[in-house]
Amino acid sequence: MDDVHRFSKMGLKPSGIRAINSQAKTLEKTRKVFHLELGQPYFDPSNFIKPAIETALSEGLNNKLFAYIPNKGDDASRATLSQWLTAHYPNDIDPDNEVIFTTGCSEALVAIYGALLDNHSEVLVPTPAWPHYLEAAKLFQAKAVPVPLCSQNGFQLTLDQLDATYTEKTKLLVINNPNNPTGVCYSLDFQTELLAWARQKNIVVLFDEIYSTYSYDDTFTSVLNHPGLLDDNAIYMNGFSKSLGVPGLRVGYLLAKKPLCDEINKIHQYLTVSTSSLSLKIVANAIKLPELNNYLSQQCCDHQQRNQLVHEALQQSSLKLSKAAGAFYFFIEYPEEFGPSKEVCSKILQTHGVALCPGDIFGDEFKHHFRLCFSTSQEDLMEALGHIKNFFEAN
Ligand code: PLP
Repeated sequence: MDDVHRFSKMGLKPSGIRAINSQAKTLEKTRKVFHLELGQPYFDPSNFIKPAIETALSEGLNNKLFAYIPNKGDDASRATLSQWLTAHYPNDIDPDNEVIFTTGCSEALVAIYGALLDNHSEVLVPTPAWPHYLEAAKLFQAKAVPVPLCSQNGFQLTLDQLDATYTEKTKLLVINNPNNPTGVCYSLDFQTELLAWARQKNIVVLFDEIYSTYSYDDTFTSVLNHPGLLDDNAIYMNGFSKSLGVPGLRVGYLLAKKPLCDEINKIHQYLTVSTSSLSLKIVANAIKLPELNNYLSQQCCDHQQRNQLVHEALQQSSLKLSKAAGAFYFFIEYPEEFGPSKEVCSKILQTHGVALCPGDIFGDEFKHHFRLCFSTSQEDLMEALGHIKNFFEAN
């Protein structure tokens, strides 16, 4: 067996987003680069998060702060989160049995897959989708089955499409609301229909709401508004990377009924033991800050302005796009004659210094698309949009 096959038995693809990001960073040594590739909030959270860090440290720099914490996260942090959720949604969340803090949603996803999937199972993933949903299934020799959505239909998912892709092997359906990369949001009615469909098929639905604080009209409703959500074979996940702008702290969480939570926790134990004690304390303190709601609304408002800017700048061009209802991305289709998306994104980066993600990272069908992340400064965004227009007009 040659080395390549010996060391890549699972056939995992390296992250396409990180690949373009590292090309962009190399180029940045010699010229200005506009980073519209990585889904990283542009704003500086320092002032907001500082009191939460100070509170964490004021409890004392001692052995307790550095000790192992329970796998699911310390009791006080789980209680804080469940109180916060119970205050906002008609669902009682038991902090001892239904909550696990994870090392970001990325780790939560792997732990969930580990608990539910084996080499005979399939997970339905509406595409275009965050690439982890597709790749992580390979870790368990399971199959991610794409459910391709189309732009003509506003990238909307239908139950007929799910019926057409469901098989006896299907164990899980992943719903990302608001969606990365399309910006589409799902109503509560539709999510209730999805849950009913899944109950009838006896499969679990994973709701990933990591972009829940970025919603720009009234199309987004959290599935936590569905009373008794967890009784319905559902798992909910969210995190603080995007909402608080702290992806480096690596804190996410998942909610599930006790039997499922216990199974997921077994995988989580072996993956990371727990999230970082200090990161978790900071985030739990941040949830309690009185400025939290204002802070989140301000970020949402700033992103709404950027959403508008992109839409206005590109809608009269040869590019096809719809305004994002949520999250901070546009998934844009360009005329086929420009060629495949990896080549196009590489060319725009080299010639204009604009880093974008090729569409086929999000699903094989999307060969003439790119994802644009609009979480960046308005000046950079305006300049980058000018370059993108020039590129598609001049070529
Ligand atoms: N879910 C979606 C849809 C994402 O786009 C991302 C990151 O980009 C994540 C989950 C993971 O976020 P984290 O691991 O930082 O919590």
